[in-house]
Amino acid sequence: MNSEPTKNVIVIGAGLSGLTVAYRLKKQGHAVTVLEKENRAGGAIGSGRRDGFLWESGPNSGLDTTPLINELLDDLGIREERLGANKIADRRFIVRGGRLIPMPMSPMTFFGTPLFSYATKLGLLREPFISRSSPEMEESVAGFVRRRLGEEFLEYAVGPFVSGIYAGDPEVLSVQAAFPKLFALEQRYGSLIRGAILGARERKLKAEKSKNEAKSFSFKDGMQTFTDALAKSLNDVQLETSIESVQHEASGTWIVRGKRNNENKEWRAAAVVLSAPADVASALLAPFAEDAAAALKAISYAPVATLISVWKRDDIAHQLDGFGFLVPRSEGLNILGSLFSSSMFPYRANSDHAVLTTFIGGMRHPELPYKDDETLQQIMERDLSRLIHIKNPPLWTQIYRHPRAIPQYTFGHLQRIQRIDAAKKTHRGVFFCANWRGGIALGDCVKNGHDTADEIHAYFSETVPA
Ligand SMILES: Cc1cc2nc3c(=O)[nH]c(=O)nc-3n(C[C@H](O)[C@H](O)[C@H](O)COP(=O)(O)OP(=O)(O)OC[C@H]3O[C@@H](n4cnc5c(N)ncnc54)[C@H](O)[C@@H]3O)c2cc1C
Repeated sequence: MNSEPTKNVIVIGAGLSGLTVAYRLKKQGHAVTVLEKENRAGGAIGSGRRDGFLWESGPNSGLDTTPLINELLDDLGIREERLGANKIADRRFIVRGGRLIPMPMSPMTFFGTPLFSYATKLGLLREPFISRSSPEMEESVAGFVRRRLGEEFLEYAVGPFVSGIYAGDPEVLSVQAAFPKLFALEQRYGSLIRGAILGARERKLKAEKSKNEAKSFSFKDGMQTFTDALAKSLNDVQLETSIESVQHEASGTWIVRGKRNNENKEWRAAAVVLSAPADVASALLAPFAEDAAAALKAISYAPVATLISVWKRDDIAHQLDGFGFLVPRSEGLNILGSLFSSSMFPYRANSDHAVLTTFIGGMRHPELPYKDDETLQQIMERDLSRLIHIKNPPLWTQIYRHPRAIPQYTFGHLQRIQRIDAAKKTHRGVFFCANWRGGIALGDCVKNGHDTADEIHAYFSETVPA
């Protein structure tokens, strides 16, 4: 048995959440070790390169919803490598009747769009007069949107966005948990429209941005620039290290055990942060915090297959003049949508070629990501030929499967988080920071990482003698 010297904090999982907690803790003067199962840091974030093309197996871009992102990039010295999305990417398409229709982004374009009927457009004028729901009553995203904006808005706007963000089913996602800001707008202002106007003024004062206002960003060499820089600055990210147990000793010390190259390893720490997916965190907590473990186990994930395809530009009739498109359920297609990755950011492909990123599966078709490569490729080509009119197959396709792509914030999620957090009181020194709580977007992971580090720092100031 190989035993490492005592450290202040052990972080389990080197995704963006775990790396951000570790980075801030290190800045606050704590000794931190990050333990990661895979052979690279970054978790869901991963960039690939081949033949001069650049693509993402996970997130294609982040939204700068919080000033903490740029502060972190400045600190890491990679602000210069950041890329804002091309202006063209402001345009997002929704499929209706087999056609790509730009999502209206202003009141003028909203009233002119063929995406919604006149009844839906006029119905929006009623929205400020619809009374708010009881804050105690948990409502689905679908129920909330139907009640305030109508069925068509759900089908052709919110539904596709929910599958774009959560790969999820709006009928079972909790609006309070999955879209807390939307729920808060209704509770605070009694109307989404009134809230959007008044809320924008308040966010301006706090230098925050809503997801609508925030700009998409990536990096010249892809999203992995971010997590690579975080990992590099930490000096102590131990890869290929799979954690199998954590134990809380009567003395207050945490013992973390795992394996690297089949060798048993052990670490001791004053605090431990679980930044691994919910089922892994559940298994680690199960021996001593049964209820928290059960709550974590109940968090389900949407599986997604990401298909990167490289095309001769002339083989696609569509202009690819946007961010990409999302497919509503009622269109009866098998793909969830595609991103026009090489239109969004420079350096992804030369002008004779295009890189597309197509998503298949999610809660709409959870069985599809497990189909063989040939079947997935056929699904992609069939749907793309209908929508963007491809003349020839892609030059090549690369497929990534994410069995646990996105955690689903379904009914009861906030109660589950309370049950998980209760373990922090009974077992002092355990903390949680991962995308199964507090938001799945990259900006949420950065904010949660920042806040969790501050929580741990405060815990040390209270409990651990200098
Ligand atoms: C296909 C896809 C597309 C996405 N697109 C976007 C997007 O466009 N914009 C956006 O904002 N967000 C997007 N997201 C969501 C965002 O990428 C994630 O929510 C975020 O990266 C999660 O970070 P995390 O650190 O919480 O979790 P993860 O990245 O999942 O990290 C958890 C880490 O724990 C490690 N681990 C697991 N078990 C163990 C163990 N036993 N021991 C040690 N380590 C372990 C894992 O290997 C992993 O590295 C996307 C996600 C996916 C999958």
